[in-house]
Amino acid sequence: MQQSLTFSNGETISYLLERRPRRTVGLKITENGLVVHAPKRIFEFQLNQILQEKSNWILTKLQAREANQIEKIQWVDGEHLLYLGQDIQLKLVPDVKKTTHFERNKLAIHAPQVNIHKACSRMVLMWYKKQAALDFARRVEVFAAKLGVPTPPLTLSNAQSRWGSCNSRGEVRLSWRLLQAPPQIINYVICHELAHLKQMNHSAKFYAVVEQLFPNYKAAEKELKLLSPQLHRM
Ligand SMILES: [Zn+2]
Repeated sequence: MQQSLTFSNGETISYLLERRPRRTVGLKITENGLVVHAPKRIFEFQLNQILQEKSNWILTKLQAREANQIEKIQWVDGEHLLYLGQDIQLKLVPDVKKTTHFERNKLAIHAPQVNIHKACSRMVLMWYKKQAALDFARRVEVFAAKLGVPTPPLTLSNAQSRWGSCNSRGEVRLSWRLLQAPPQIINYVICHELAHLKQMNHSAKFYAVVEQLFPNYKAAEKELKLLSPQLHRM
């Protein structure tokens, strides 16, 4: 249930209240803001008092969250993009024909001036998908050989919530957005999915296979989590 709360400094926030079978009040900051887990029987005035006492913590955390919220890509000349973990720059070049060139850390989009911004977003995404298909296929081939399995069929996905998957038919899907990540992160996701060709679960046996393919997978997993908001700009 969405609630609102005014602190003694006059600042009003809204938060999500969830009643739970528990004894204490738990607070957490999610991407949607403050979530309060409260015992089923707590009175509203008691809950408000607790939240007032924690106001410093809540406001500081909410401010940090706002600062971390990353802007979506602007399809304008000079915008910064990520490609294999590198910072690259978008160049918009008015031209009669639509073409895409990548050279020296610049992705140049040539298109007629009238609709260059609209054309640009489409052309950049097309370029990323095309590069992702080539790049991921090469890596999948290398790691499949290392694992000693035939190279599985690969498809690109547009999934926002998962980086990769592997189904029971042994088909691997990878999000093209991963092409923005550093190579070792892409390798890690590929190794995770390929390990499913041997273990269709997340058991200890599965992680043993992952580790054999990609020894430092835990660090990569963490890095990917931290990087995730950046990769969702596009
Ligand atoms: Zn998995």
